[in-house]
Amino acid sequence: MEKKWQYPHRRWNPLRQSWVLVSPHRTQRPWQGETGQKAAPSDVAYDPQCYLCPGNKRAGGAANPSYEGIFSFVNDYAALLPDSPSVTDQPASPLLVAEPARGLCKVLCFHPDHSLTLARMTQPEIRRVVDAWTREFKELDGLDWIEYVQIFENRGAMMGASNPHPHCQIWSTGFVPDEPAAEAEAQSEHMVRTGHCLLCDYLAAERAEQAAQERIIFENEHFVALVPWWATWPFEALLVSRRHFGALPELNDDEQDGLADALKRLTTRFDNLFETSFPYTMGFHQSPTDGGAHPEWHFHAHFYPPLLRSATVRKFMVGFEMLGMPQRDITPEDAAQRLRACSEEHFWPRR
Ligand SMILES: [Zn+2]
Ligand SMILES: [Zn+2]
Ligand SMILES: [Zn+2]
Repeated sequence: MEKKWQYPHRRWNPLRQSWVLVSPHRTQRPWQGETGQKAAPSDVAYDPQCYLCPGNKRAGGAANPSYEGIFSFVNDYAALLPDSPSVTDQPASPLLVAEPARGLCKVLCFHPDHSLTLARMTQPEIRRVVDAWTREFKELDGLDWIEYVQIFENRGAMMGASNPHPHCQIWSTGFVPDEPAAEAEAQSEHMVRTGHCLLCDYLAAERAEQAAQERIIFENEHFVALVPWWATWPFEALLVSRRHFGALPELNDDEQDGLADALKRLTTRFDNLFETSFPYTMGFHQSPTDGGAHPEWHFHAHFYPPLLRSATVRKFMVGFEMLGMPQRDITPEDAAQRLRACSEEHFWPRR
């Protein structure tokens, strides 16, 4: 295939309304930096030291039930609490602003087996996780002071995950956090300007014939997985629903199966890329639960994996990226092509 975009340029991210610098020629340079530790697969199904395994005691003193499916609980060391006193020691300067921040932080275990990951779980097992996410979302949406629900998974020590047990976190807040707030604004602006949904339009552009679908990794009947035009992380991916809706409770039964299928296939391809348990932060962006209508919001998930060229060499967001703007080396098209070439059979089969 002819190599396009092999010169420095910047690309517009319409969802975040920001630019990313693309410098593909830089991957030719020799690597003399840190090489991380290759994450060795583990077969330990139960770890007596793990605070998420069934039956174990947690640090806060509570004990987990001997759960056999999904298990969720309020985080023992929550970053946000349902009750937060009003800020009384407000400084005089209008530049020094603080506000009370309320929230609920929960942990949700995907599976009792300590050694599993989404990639190595079966589609029906992941479907049970999708159902649990939906239940949790509905329950939190029902609390009138919760304005946003953020479901996310930190996978791997490289992303700061303190425990390999398959789990995610659900932080719900009494305010809309910055990332979804910026995306809500961009989606609203696009809808006002064009009368269309931003991500529906973006998906149509990516799936159009003339684009050769070069950033699409795969699609099923209900979801499309792609390396977005504006990807910052080397193998960043966006999972977008093909139908327009805002949040998990709006998925029908087939779409819930479709989401489980897409999650399994995408995470398996990630693991197969460098034959490692691929680290990432992933999470869903859903319509705010602030009581307003959000016709602009289109359900999607972001995957932000740090690895660049092997199981041990990661990308760092430093220097110009901290002070100027994000920058990437390989093009999104190259990244998508490499993920398309990966098998959907996991390199490390489950016994
Ligand atoms: Zn465990
Ligand atoms: Zn849409
Ligand atoms: Zn988003």
